[in-house]
Amino acid sequence: MTTLAFLGLGAMGDPMAAHLARYAAASGLTAHVWNRTDSKAQAHARAHGSSAVTLEEAAGADVIFTCLPTSAEVSEVLSVMEPHLNRGAVWVDCTSGHPQAAPAQRERLAARGVTLLDAPVSGGTAGAQAGTLTVMVGGPADALEAVRPHLAFAGKVVHVGQSGAGFAVKAVNNALLGVTLWATGEGLAVLARAGVDLGAALDVINASSGRSNASQNLIGQRVLTREFPATFALGLLAKDAGIAADLTGEVRGSAPLLAQTAALLRAAERVVGADEDHTAALKLIEQMNDVELK
Ligand code: NDP
Repeated sequence: MTTLAFLGLGAMGDPMAAHLARYAAASGLTAHVWNRTDSKAQAHARAHGSSAVTLEEAAGADVIFTCLPTSAEVSEVLSVMEPHLNRGAVWVDCTSGHPQAAPAQRERLAARGVTLLDAPVSGGTAGAQAGTLTVMVGGPADALEAVRPHLAFAGKVVHVGQSGAGFAVKAVNNALLGVTLWATGEGLAVLARAGVDLGAALDVINASSGRSNASQNLIGQRVLTREFPATFALGLLAKDAGIAADLTGEVRGSAPLLAQTAALLRAAERVVGADEDHTAALKLIEQMNDVELK
């Protein structure tokens, strides 16, 4: 019987694994879950009918999903699981990982007969709960076709190229999120200093050419309300923008705006806090301008 294992039950992984468990139950498959803090895996098993297992047991699955903070944690769990892997399995890494980590991980897994797909996701915790995530996949197309039916948390799946391409697309996407979030924050800080009502300004921007996801959703719902709900950590966004900057260097490209944004988000992470919601980066802009965006 096909066994699916999901490793990493964080803000994204927990609801993604819930979809996987529901799909497995409906399809006569087995769903295993593992989490560093075991109590979360036990709670997941109780709530969704999955089975909480050890890393060694998870390694025996036919399809292994990971959703961990960075590629470094994926390499850590890989080291433990390596001797126990099942030849012919596919490892689907949904972490927003680093393209430079993919070749070494791919080789280690290939030596055990396991195929690696980098498959980061977009859509936030709301998309994970709804099962409507966009998945950007790098790696062999035939391996993607083999696991495609198991991507129970996905609304849209796009094969973007060879191994590492999924990580690259995700990093650039999130760097663009960083650019629009930061730039809109700067614009609103200037308007606040000019005495303009920010709700009215945002209303205009959202019906005009300056609009973005940051202006239409994030800033109105999270910043002007002063709620900053922590669904996607500032440290993770800074990490993603940093990966885009690393990628620029690796391909000898020129992307100064992305590099600048990565540096600004890193500064905000230090000043505001890595665990704060990513929209709290705008608190640094507030300090720079001595205004509050409300
Ligand atoms: P969380 O911080 O909510 O969860 C992190 C998970 O990784 C937890 O299960 C945590 O376990 C586990 N973990 C942390 N360190 C280790 C370690 N050293 N070894 C093993 N497990 C570890 O992160 P998210 O769910 O928000 O993010 C996960 C990935 O998804 C990241 O790459 C992020 O960039 C990406 N992402 C996040 C989105 C979001 O909106 N949050 C949207 C799209 C992508 P424990 O419970 O023990 O702490």
